[in-house]
Amino acid sequence: MSADILTLNAGSSSIKFALYAAGAAPALRAKGQVEGIGVAPRLKARAADGAVLADAPYEAGGGHDTALERIMALIAQAFPGATVAAVGHRVVHGGPDFAAPVRVDAAVLAKLETYAPFAPLHQPHNLAAVRAAMAAFPDAAQVACFDTAFHRGQPWVSDTFALPRRFHAEGVRRYGFHGLSYDFVSRELARRDPERGRGRAIICHLGAGASLCAIEEGRAMGSTMGFTALDGLPMATRCGQIDPGVLLYLMTERGMDANAISDLLYGESGLKGLSGISSDMRALEASDAPEAREAVDYFTHRVRREIGGLAAVLGGLDALVFTAGIGENSATVRAAVCADLGWMGVALDAEANAAGAAVISAADAPVRVYVIATDEERVIAEAAIRFA
Ligand code: ADP
Repeated sequence: MSADILTLNAGSSSIKFALYAAGAAPALRAKGQVEGIGVAPRLKARAADGAVLADAPYEAGGGHDTALERIMALIAQAFPGATVAAVGHRVVHGGPDFAAPVRVDAAVLAKLETYAPFAPLHQPHNLAAVRAAMAAFPDAAQVACFDTAFHRGQPWVSDTFALPRRFHAEGVRRYGFHGLSYDFVSRELARRDPERGRGRAIICHLGAGASLCAIEEGRAMGSTMGFTALDGLPMATRCGQIDPGVLLYLMTERGMDANAISDLLYGESGLKGLSGISSDMRALEASDAPEAREAVDYFTHRVRREIGGLAAVLGGLDALVFTAGIGENSATVRAAVCADLGWMGVALDAEANAAGAAVISAADAPVRVYVIATDEERVIAEAAIRFA
């Protein structure tokens, strides 16, 4: 028998999971996901050493509950004797109140449900997984870990919109997201470089979803994401920053309703909309089409622009960090973002960047530039252990 921690990250059509052996530091046992839930579900999983534990479709039908049953069956078969002492859940929205992970009971669940209107595409799925895990593991602690929590201590000017004050009071705020990633990466930066880790840093989380976060002495000072995960940088299919006047135009002149606008802004915009080719950075980098080039140019232009804005918020910069799918893997994007930042002390070592080294800045550059692989599951597992 071993005490284990299960982490779950449930999206609209997927559940990512990881199994850790509990201990002073969680030790990864397996990682995987069910994708294509509801349409063409497929369970994939690998052990910590990379060995394939599962990679097979199962018959469509059933939703997140069925997916969780499949995950549990796999764990029981691959790790006989494993006992799940706590389940850590990624929950996108902790609203104004939750600034740290919390053990979920009926009252907390009810509170988290009231935040669904703030994140309609994510929160309901996150909470469905919590309910399914409560039924599947009635004796385990269920722990919610929030993407918003890391930002809760940010200064008021970074937390509000210039709307009448009552809107802030009712929860219309700049929450910021990707907080589990910022938590991991900022701590990793402090471990690798204690001096700069205590200083002024900007972390660039560039994945299918993308945002930046300014950090000083480990504290969040501002982020590019706002009330929802739509704001800030352009993303795979999300628009990023947009003049709200465009939305008024779409409603009044084009007769688009909330659903149509939501589909446009969340699903048809960003890299996909700009290129008309793909939402995937790899595909755009491989394409010769001018539209693909322009989409990448827009992306890197916005990242650079937001770095400038957040560096001004911090009053300077000691470290710049790239993370997530694009940030960790695309030397081209990193080079384009940093190309004209010499004025603020950013200069890359081209070879180190091309090789994806841990430090990619030139030796004499005042700002040290890091590539740090994020690990949101580990942050969730560490939090869940505390409640096990
Ligand atoms: P998610 O938000 O779904 O977790 P990821 O962090 O996995 O997203 O990032 C996905 C993005 O990373 C995609 O746009 C993908 O094209 C990009 N990406 C992954 N590997 C590379 C690579 N080698 N070069 C360029 N882009 C990459």
